[in-house]
Amino acid sequence: MALADRITAAPKRAHGLPCSVGDLLDRLPDDERTALQHMLDNGWSQNEIYDAVTAEGHEVGRQTINRHRSRSCRCYR
Ligand SMILES: [Zn+2]
Repeated sequence: MALADRITAAPKRAHGLPCSVGDLLDRLPDDERTALQHMLDNGWSQNEIYDAVTAEGHEVGRQTINRHRSRSCRCYR
């Protein structure tokens, strides 16, 4: 399988219980979800994202941020 083939087989979100980050993404209004996804996709550190999210009154697991970003959380199992 070539890398070019693999990008079409990217891990898909499962329908089970999402992790705390996936759950938050599901619950946020569109503009907030876009902002958080931007942080995840553009190199914000785990701690920077954690501080921003909790400052807005949301609860996520600090370690879950990198797990969700690397798709090793339960969203993708
Ligand atoms: Zn997740």
